[in-house]
Amino acid sequence: MKIYLDGEFVPSEDAKVSVFDHGLLYGDGVFEGIRIYHNRVLRLGDHIDRLYDSARAICLAIPLSKAGMTEAVLETIRRNGLSDGYVRLVITRGVGTLGLNPYHCPKPGVIIIADKIALYPEEKYHDGLVLNTCATRRPTVASLSPMVKSLNYLNNIMAKIEAIQAGADEGLMLNEQGYVAECTGDNIFILKNGEVLTPPVASGALRGVTRSIAIEICMTMQLPLKEAQLTCYDIYTADECFLTGTAAEIIPAVRLDGRPIGDGRPGPVTAEFIRHFREMVKHAGTPV
Ligand code: PMP
Repeated sequence: MKIYLDGEFVPSEDAKVSVFDHGLLYGDGVFEGIRIYHNRVLRLGDHIDRLYDSARAICLAIPLSKAGMTEAVLETIRRNGLSDGYVRLVITRGVGTLGLNPYHCPKPGVIIIADKIALYPEEKYHDGLVLNTCATRRPTVASLSPMVKSLNYLNNIMAKIEAIQAGADEGLMLNEQGYVAECTGDNIFILKNGEVLTPPVASGALRGVTRSIAIEICMTMQLPLKEAQLTCYDIYTADECFLTGTAAEIIPAVRLDGRPIGDGRPGPVTAEFIRHFREMVKHAGTPV
C-alpha cells in the first residue's frame, strides 16, 4: 500500500507523522472520507469543497490548490490499483511546539490513504440497525460548529461507546435542546405518512454528502421532503428510518431505545432508496 504523505508516495510502514504534529497532540486538523465505486470517485468535488470549508473555518491553509488536491487523491487511488474502496484525506495542523498555538506550526500535514472498507456486514442492510439515544450531546454552534469535519471526534466516540455498551449498532445524538442532530457517523432520515423528514444542519448535523444524495433521490422518487426539527418521539413513531453516510451508504434503522420503528423491519421506501443509490454509484463520479 502506498500512502500520500506531504507530496510523496511512501509505503504504509514508512508513513509516519511526528509526535509534535498538532493533529496528534490536539486533534487539530480536518478530514474527509470518500468512496470509490467502479473506478469512479463519488462526489469528489463536494468532498474537496467541504474539506476546504472545514479548513477555512479553523484557519488552516491547505498547502495545495483544490485542483492539486483532486489530482493527489486520484493519483493515490491509481498507485494502489483500487477500483472500489475508500479514501481518507487528512489535513493536520502540522509540527509545532508543545503549546496550543497553531501559529507555531508552519507547515500543515497532508495524508491520503486509499484502502478497502466495509463498515457494516451485508445482513445489516437487510435486517437494519438498532439505535440507542446517547446521553452525550452534539456540541453546540457556540463551541465548535458541527459543520467542521475536524480531527477531534471524541464527542462522537463517547456517544459510540454508549451505543455499543447499550448493545446497539449506532448511537442517536441530540443537540443541547434535545432535538435530533444525527448519528455518531451518519445523518438520519425518517418516513412518516409518505413524507421524508431529516433534521436541518442547524440542528447540529454535518452536511453529509450522502445526505445530499438521499435528498436528490427524494426528488427522483417524487417524495416530499422536509427539513424539520425532530425529537426521539418522531423516530419512535416513524413508518421507516434510514441512515446515510459515505462509509455506511444508505442503511435501514429498525429500532430506537427498544421501540420498533414501523413494524421493526426495513421498510419498502428505504429499500427503494438503497436501490437508487446502488444504481447511481455504478456510473456517477469522477473517473480515476
Ligand atoms: N455525520 C457525521 C458526524 C459524520 O462523521 C459523517 C461522515 N462519516 C456523516 C454525518 C455523513 O456524512 P457523509 O455522507 O458526507 O459521509
